[in-house]
Amino acid sequence: MIRYNVSMAAYNTFGIDVQAAALTEVNTVEELRVALEQNASQLPLLVLGGGSNILFTKPVDAFVIINKIRGIRIVEEQEDQLVIEAGGGEVWHDFVQYTVHHGWGGIENLSLIPGSVGASPMQNIGAYGVEIKDVFHSLDALEIATGKIHTFTKDDCAFGYRESVFKRALKDRFVITAVRYVLQKKPTFHTGYGAIQQELEAMGVSELSVKAISEAVIRIRQSKLPDPKVLGNAGSFFKNPVVSAELAQRILESHPNAPHYPQADGTEKLAAGWLIEQCGLKGYRQRNCGVHEKQALVLVNYGGATGNEIFGLSQHVLDTVHAKFGVLLEREVNIY
Ligand code: FAD
Ligand code: NAP
Repeated sequence: MIRYNVSMAAYNTFGIDVQAAALTEVNTVEELRVALEQNASQLPLLVLGGGSNILFTKPVDAFVIINKIRGIRIVEEQEDQLVIEAGGGEVWHDFVQYTVHHGWGGIENLSLIPGSVGASPMQNIGAYGVEIKDVFHSLDALEIATGKIHTFTKDDCAFGYRESVFKRALKDRFVITAVRYVLQKKPTFHTGYGAIQQELEAMGVSELSVKAISEAVIRIRQSKLPDPKVLGNAGSFFKNPVVSAELAQRILESHPNAPHYPQADGTEKLAAGWLIEQCGLKGYRQRNCGVHEKQALVLVNYGGATGNEIFGLSQHVLDTVHAKFGVLLEREVNIY
């Protein structure tokens, strides 16, 4: 069923209340094809999963398709590993919990990330030292222009830091309908990142397991990230900047404690949250929106903010960080 002039407030985690020209939910690839035919290319398309990585700054003059294509199945199984496929409309965290429940390792560090399976390759989601590209096998995507399903391998996806070909060269051309991941039956664990080790100790964990790591990640995330159901947000608004060794060195001379992570190519990754905090902007508020008081990378909607207000705040953060450090932050959230 297609609905017209629909409020998008319930379809984005910032809670921005703009009107969409038309909206439908699709539960199968067939329903997706029918929806595309009904649109007959009159309106541009906007495909969404959980709406947890988008900021609406204007009315959505588009046909919004909410991907609800479900289903989880094992497509290949060997002694040590398996390939598992999930429908693009599966809720990401529920899928992670399914794999954790079975003791299969690979995506436990990505617990509690909001959104859908279908969006997980879009920006190569990552947290606590694991990215989708580390476990990615392949995906199926329907080409909007032809209605044909294409299979993409890892190389086809051109994954980068919070990047993929679907955010760049193939933007708005495909709907991701299913994603396959390689998981391990005898996993190696990634506990060296952020506060995971500390949290595992606080939990009294003596033997590592995918379940223990998933729980540790959930506990850390719940303690510092705002729940979008309570406070509108889209997670980290900015990417961590990767800068030249020279610029990193200059910043370190005046700020010896600046977190910095050397990259394989000699550049340095800086922590955007730290840079914003050093500008005195953690907890900063402009009318109905602000920089979260516990995590400076996250911009929040205190209620009633417009997308333009939040965008304006993000520009203020960008300008302030640039003036102080000479570092140009890049927005991670998709701006519509
Ligand atoms: P949406 O917001 O619905 O869509 C995002 C973009 O992908 C849009 O451009 C949309 O058009 C496109 N898209 C969505 N589905 C499809 C599809 N099936 N086919 C084609 N295009 C599609 N991200 C991280 O990487 N790591 C984190 O740790 C993390 N933590 C977060 C914490 C919080 C509290 C929040 C609110 C967000 C966080 N995010 C994080 C960002 C976000 O959850 C992820 O980017 C997630 O993958 C977005 O999924 P979604 O279904 O909500 O995407
Ligand atoms: P954190 O642990 O306080 O660390 C701050 C930053 O330092 C992170 O952004 C992380 O970069 C980097 N970092 C920490 N340890 C590192 C290491 N050993 N090697 C290289 N880089 C390291 O971060 P946090 O804010 O609480 O977030 C925890 C994790 O969840 C991070 O991976 C973060 O990316 C992810 N997260 C993402 C979003 C989003 O919307 N994208 C929202 C919330 C949390 P990276 O970000 O590059 O990992």
